[in-house]
Amino acid sequence: MFVVGTAGHVDHGKSTLVKALTGIDPDRLREEQERAMTIDLGFAWLTLPSGREISLVDVPGHERFIKNMLAGVGGLDAALLVIAADEGPMPQTAEHLAILDLLGIARGLVVLTKADLVDAEWLALVSEEVRERLAGTTLAGAPLLSVSALTGQGLPELVAALDRVLAAAAPPADSGRPRLPIDRVFTMTGFGTVVTGTLTGGSLRVGDEVEVQPGDRPARIRGLQSHKRKVETAAPGSRVAVNLSGLAVGDLRRGDVLTTPGWLRPTDRLDLHLRMIAAAPRPLRQNELVDFFTGAAEVAGRVTLLDADELAPGASGWVQIRLAAPVAAARGDRYIIRQPSPSLTIGGGAIVDPRPRRHRRFDQAVLARLATLQQGTPAEQVLQALAAGPLDLKTLSERTGLAQAELGLVVRDLLAAGAALVLDPAPAALPRPADYLTTPAGWRALVEALTGALAGYHRQYPLRPGAPREEIRSRLGLAPRLFDRAIGLAVGQGLVVDEEALLRLPDHRIAFTPAQAAAADRLLAALGAPATAPPSLTELAADPELVAALAHQGKLVRVSESAAFLSDTYAAMVDWALATIDSTGGVTVAGLRDRFNTSRKHALALLEHLDQRRLTRRQGDVRVRW
Ligand code: GDP
Ligand code: MG
Repeated sequence: MFVVGTAGHVDHGKSTLVKALTGIDPDRLREEQERAMTIDLGFAWLTLPSGREISLVDVPGHERFIKNMLAGVGGLDAALLVIAADEGPMPQTAEHLAILDLLGIARGLVVLTKADLVDAEWLALVSEEVRERLAGTTLAGAPLLSVSALTGQGLPELVAALDRVLAAAAPPADSGRPRLPIDRVFTMTGFGTVVTGTLTGGSLRVGDEVEVQPGDRPARIRGLQSHKRKVETAAPGSRVAVNLSGLAVGDLRRGDVLTTPGWLRPTDRLDLHLRMIAAAPRPLRQNELVDFFTGAAEVAGRVTLLDADELAPGASGWVQIRLAAPVAAARGDRYIIRQPSPSLTIGGGAIVDPRPRRHRRFDQAVLARLATLQQGTPAEQVLQALAAGPLDLKTLSERTGLAQAELGLVVRDLLAAGAALVLDPAPAALPRPADYLTTPAGWRALVEALTGALAGYHRQYPLRPGAPREEIRSRLGLAPRLFDRAIGLAVGQGLVVDEEALLRLPDHRIAFTPAQAAAADRLLAALGAPATAPPSLTELAADPELVAALAHQGKLVRVSESAAFLSDTYAAMVDWALATIDSTGGVTVAGLRDRFNTSRKHALALLEHLDQRRLTRRQGDVRVRW
């Protein structure tokens, strides 16, 4: 299950797009319907062509409701940045893009909606402008598509592109520490207290003893729902409604976090790495009051700039923030800060230390410790780097800044703990620089993409024994070396068969439909009469896929574009031709024609085919051994 969210300016078509894709109207609450505006996060869901399930979170575009957007984007696997083709990028487009960038959301699509309202020339201009805006953000390389929710134009392509974007994503991480930042609290008749949110970090089960933070409030899970279905277990990456016993609605607030007991503690002071957005209206000053957002929580706080007198737009620095009320947050969590009035996003980043002491400003020892903390332990850095997909050790060393020798030891420990694996059926004891490393989740995602691509190919070409490697590689968009390693391991694990330079799923067999079987019988009968001078494939209007399948089964041999012989006939003619060369020194087109009572055309096609197979070669009028 993956969570995909919309972002973009009000009225640019986000909710309409979600409805066109899922059939679910995210503007469904009565109040929203009255105001024709999304006031809370709307949720819809969809199964992509690959079978991948996604939750679609529709985040409202209106400035006033930006906190709803922040609540929704914390757990996003991919974003749909929606821009109306007739208007182009608007102020909130820029603000939402900046937020996606600050939250580190690197996967997504840029969707130009309302394509029915503009012509191709205008669309090209807007696309170019959008590309310029994306430059330098996490979405810089994102595919750009144009659609119309009105005519349906571009929607299938959008769904396919989303599938491809998510194929590259590792499934949501499961570290055994489930967290549900609560974005809604309500009572349901007959059930009692219900909270909703996007689950990250681990699974929740009915019966689990849980805790709500801040405040160490214990509760028990009475029931779980995901996408309106009752479930026993909710997996990370899904939208979940949790029915709680032990807590009343009045005890709970939006922004609280539901989690497993004993690890997540509330805090009202945090050390942050802060990046100011380039479009911020002015520098951030020492001791300034800001609004702080993380997960679904929103609270006021005062900043202490630890390494600067002020932070200019576009600049980065170390900051300690003191909050007016505690939040439940962990190291590495993303956050956003906004100036209170006029309310505007000015920066954000990651929490580096959720429970620091008070620091003196400009203290070199403090700054050095923050830099180290931000990088994490070497093992964390390696896993972090691998979260985006497999990497070879050389690249991993560049990405993490760890020297080969140290990296080797870290990787050896990760391998021993089962937290990483080498893409090699028989890996060396100490991995080598060219070896590719991935996480178990990354490997599962890769296998799913690979078997999905093969299954798709087999469906498309049921009469072919397998898929050319290059075709599958390009469908997956993998670098050649990575692809070869992945195939090596998949073959080693028996998930894929590599046969005669073709790849297939182990259970794939060429299977004729009754109509194809009848056509095959007719074709073989026609090629047998007369066997040495059969009618051409063109005359027979033979289906090339069927011819290739019969050739693969050894029933016929195709010697040219238009000529094929039954296998027995072919073998007899080849045997005679080679024997004649050996006994008389050469064979001619006329000799072959006369011996087998065939045509000059057929004899020539066969001998040219033998030249191509490098069994014979031409010398004047005769063929000799190659
Ligand atoms: P949101 O605020 O981004 O969620 O925008 P809505 O989905 O509410 O759409 C705003 C307006 O644009 C509505 O009147 C829609 O009917 C209209 N709209 C949305 N998509 C399209 C489209 O593809 N073509 C046209 N012509 N109008 C659209
Ligand atoms: Mg809307």
